[in-house]
This record gives sequence, C-alpha cells and structure tokens, in this order.
Amino acid sequence: MFKKVLIANRGEIAARVIRTCREMGIRTVAVYSDADRRARYVSSADEAHPLGSPEVRESYLNAAKIIAIARRAGADALHPGYGFLSENADFARACLAAQIKFIGPSPDAIDRVGNKLQARRLARKIGVPVVPGTDKPLTGRPSSALIRKIGFPLLIKAAAGGGGRGMRVVRGPGDFDRSYREAGQEAKNAFGDGTLFLERYIDNPKHIEVQIIGDSKGNVLHLFERECSVQRRHQKLIEEAPSPALTPKQRARITAAAVKLARAARYQNAGTCEFLLDSKGRFYFLEVNSRLQVEHPVTEMITGLDLVRLQLEVADGRPLPMRQKDVRPRGHAVECRILAEDAMDGFAPSLGEIPSYRLPGGPFVRIDSDLTPGMHVTVYYDSLIAKLIGWGQTRDQAIDRVTRALSEFKIAGVKTTIPFHRAMLSDAVFRKGGATTRYVETEFRMPSEDRESRLAAILAGCLEYFKRERTEPRTYSPRPISAWKAAARRGFSR
Ligand code: ADP
Ligand code: ADP
Ligand code: MG
Repeated sequence: MFKKVLIANRGEIAARVIRTCREMGIRTVAVYSDADRRARYVSSADEAHPLGSPEVRESYLNAAKIIAIARRAGADALHPGYGFLSENADFARACLAAQIKFIGPSPDAIDRVGNKLQARRLARKIGVPVVPGTDKPLTGRPSSALIRKIGFPLLIKAAAGGGGRGMRVVRGPGDFDRSYREAGQEAKNAFGDGTLFLERYIDNPKHIEVQIIGDSKGNVLHLFERECSVQRRHQKLIEEAPSPALTPKQRARITAAAVKLARAARYQNAGTCEFLLDSKGRFYFLEVNSRLQVEHPVTEMITGLDLVRLQLEVADGRPLPMRQKDVRPRGHAVECRILAEDAMDGFAPSLGEIPSYRLPGGPFVRIDSDLTPGMHVTVYYDSLIAKLIGWGQTRDQAIDRVTRALSEFKIAGVKTTIPFHRAMLSDAVFRKGGATTRYVETEFRMPSEDRESRLAAILAGCLEYFKRERTEPRTYSPRPISAWKAAARRGFSR
C-alpha cells in the first residue's frame, strides 16, 4: 500500500481523506494557500506545505507547484478530492510522469467521460438514453431549424461544465442570443473552454445519480443511487440515499446503465453517473463525474463502505474486496450542505470570521467539516463549511435525526443555510419525496421570521436576563448602571 499520500485539496474533503489515510497507516501531506494557513486539515496532516497566494490559479490549481511538492515530500500517491484538479486529465498525466499514483481513473478514462458531449456520444453508442440534444459542439450560433428541432424550453450547456456553471435555460426564441453569449462567456471564464451544446430542458425532473467503483482487473460495481433533487441554481443542497422516487425495477435499470457506461469507458476508481428522471419515470444520462463526490457520505452510510479506502485500494492495484451481491444497502441517509450563505436573503454569500460554533452529535449523525474557531470564510473558495449527514432505518427516521441535529448546530459570525434545511426537512412535499430540481426556486417558500416570534424572542431574552440578575451573585461593575437597567431592577425585585 502507499506510504505517503498528498491531498491536493483543502477544507472538509482534505480532512475527510486524511482521516481514512490515518486509519490505514498511510502518512499524509497537506498543501495550503496563505488563506488556509491556520486551517485544521493543515495541522491534522503529517506534514504540510505552503502554496502561496490564495488565488486558486496560484495555489490549488497550480499543477506544477503541487507535483513539485509531492516529489519533494516523497509522496507515492496523490488524492485530488473534488473540484480543482480532480477531473483534469493533463494533471493526472503529469502525476503519472512524475511517478506519483493519481487516485482516480486513468487519464484516458477521464478524457473518455470528462467532456459532457463525448460522454453523451458514448452513452448513445451503447444504448443508454441521453437527453435529446446536439451531439456535436456548436460552432457559432445554431440554425433556427436545429433550435426548433430541440424545442423550447432548452438548455445551453458547457461541454466542460461543472458545479452548475456555464448553463442557461432558454424559454423562447427571443432569449436565445443573449443566453448563448452569456453561457459561452461563463464557460470560458470558469473552465477555459467555451464549447457549448444544446439539450432539451426536462421540466421538473429528479436528479438521480449512481455511484460506481472499478478496479484495475476490469471489475465494475455500482453502490446504488443517490437523489439530489433539492437544488438551487443547478447546485445540490440536500442529497439522500436511496432515492425515494425509484421503484425496484427502475433502480435495477438505472444502476445497470451506469455500470454499462463505466465498463464501456474502461473506468477505474470511484465515479458517478448522473441522470435525470422525468415525470413519466423515464431516465436520461447527464454526465459522469470522474472523482469522489461531495455527497459520497450518504452512500457510505447505507452501504457501510469507506469510499476513500476503496479508492486507495483499487489505485494500489488491488481487486475490489466484494462482489455486486455483497453490496447490500441498509436504511436511509440524508446529507445537508451547510453553506456560508444567507438562506433568508436569497442565498447571498456571507463572508467573515466564524469565532465559535457548536457541532451536533448523537446517534447516527456524522459531520464532515473543517470548522475551527476563528476560521474565515473568504471569497476565494466555495461556501461549503460543513456537511451534516444522518442515518435512519427509514427515510422518516433519517430526516427526523438530521432535523434534531440541525437544531443543535450553531455557527456564529456568518449566516448559513441551516434555516433553509430546517424548513425543507419539515416541508410536506419534501417529506413525501416529491421535490424536483425546480422545487426550491418555484414553489418552496422559506417561512419568514414574523414580527410576533421576534418579539417573543426579545421578551424571552429579557426575562432570562432578569432571572439571572436575581439568582446569580452580583459582581462589582465599574461601569455605571444605565437608567433602563436601574428602572427594570426597581420594577422586578421586591
Ligand atoms: P458534486 O458533483 O460532487 O455534487 P459539485 O457539482 O457541487 O459537486 O462540485 C463540487 C465542487 O467542485 C464545487 O466546488 C464545484 O464548483 C467544483 N467543480 C465541479 N465541477 C467542476 C469543473 N468541471 N471545473 C471546476 N470546478 C468544478
Ligand atoms: P454540472 O456539470 O454543472 O453538474 P449537470 O449536467 O450535471 O451539470 O447538471 C446539473 C443540474 O442542472 C442537474 O442536476 C439538473 O438540475 C440541471 N439540468 C442539467 N441538464 C438538464 C436538462 N437537460 N433538463 C433539465 N435540467 C437539467
Ligand atoms: Mg453534474
């Protein structure tokens, strides 16, 4: 097994990978930008090396710098986490050339599935249904005939896209040109590749994805599906496993399609095949994510498998330790992405220091985070500060557990999506398993803080204050007592 693994990432996912390495007796090397100097994952690794400027191009996307550090540190393998360089075939190639094992699929396999258009062609070739759309990159504005053929609403998508960016919904011919320009620009800025294609926009679908894992002997297994329909701006907020929407028959078909696709791509290591499920129960392939996914913990919770351990084992050339029939899902798991965003104010980014926080605990609750008192949420990286995962024997039990854990979770200093999650987990449509990818942005309403509950909270605070004034010993205060306080004391003590 590897002796030393460099984690080319930051935050919660770096911490996650370090933990499994430690359990396996593998030494770990962290890398960090100036903004992450005091991050917890940095001190929990066996050694840590600076990357300099917080700008991602200078730090976590700086392939040459990271590989030089890996060589200097004597790392024999590298785990890319998610985002950053994780789906970059050239980076995987550079690792190979430096004799550092890239913990992920081979560079050629990344090439076969990394581009959405190419993955669509592969899926179509082997008979996996894809969303109707174009199979070739657009070269200039598409003809009206082509647009008509796909029909409105349609989606303009970036072939290199990820994280919900480079995508535009077009509802009618009048909006096409502006959206086309915007999508191209956004894709170019975000991915350095402005290649676009068109897909029919499936109305109110569910997002269902299948976890796959392959070894170097050609074995490919699926680890069942996750549903990630609770999204905002095409970004996931809540994920669960299994999907409450699938019948056993649909489950068998979608998991078989994912395995077929992975086999055709000669895929090794962990990956995810994403699909949309429409209101008629038909599914369509979307894309492959050739890496560990943010929401992998829900799969771990229902299968009892450590995905990072499996990634390390298959990267080391070992065969998968189980067969398909040995993978038996048990119960239900739900994950909430806790983002530093103000859910009460249109999910506006909330930057600043987190001076303190209180983590939930209790049975069947897992927190993946890199929270540490005094940490700063900055503009440089994404807003994910913690993932809260709960398991239950049934879906209701899992949701009740996560709800309870959310009520214990306190984060000071920044606004978070905790209020959103509390509202969504008690929402009738969500509880029935009926949320689609458009639900957050269309029907769902955050309960607003009403005047009465604010007033009640202020009154409760005052009563608590006066109670303590009476029961706790007075200490001498050098500050003069305000007239309000003095008046209140006169009124309350007899
Ligand atoms: P997942 O697909 O694992 O659920 P997301 O789509 O939320 O995760 O992406 C996880 C992280 O990776 C986010 O920070 C996202 O911005 C980033 N990311 C995803 N795809 C790409 C890509 N193609 N290029 C750059 N960053 C990406
Ligand atoms: P990314 O690479 O950004 O993750 P995906 O193709 O995986 O892009 O799509 C992300 C999300 O965007 C999906 O989960 C879904 O909500 C929405 N989406 C993508 N394609 C379509 C489509 N053809 N019709 C409707 N929604 C779509
Ligand atoms: Mg996706």
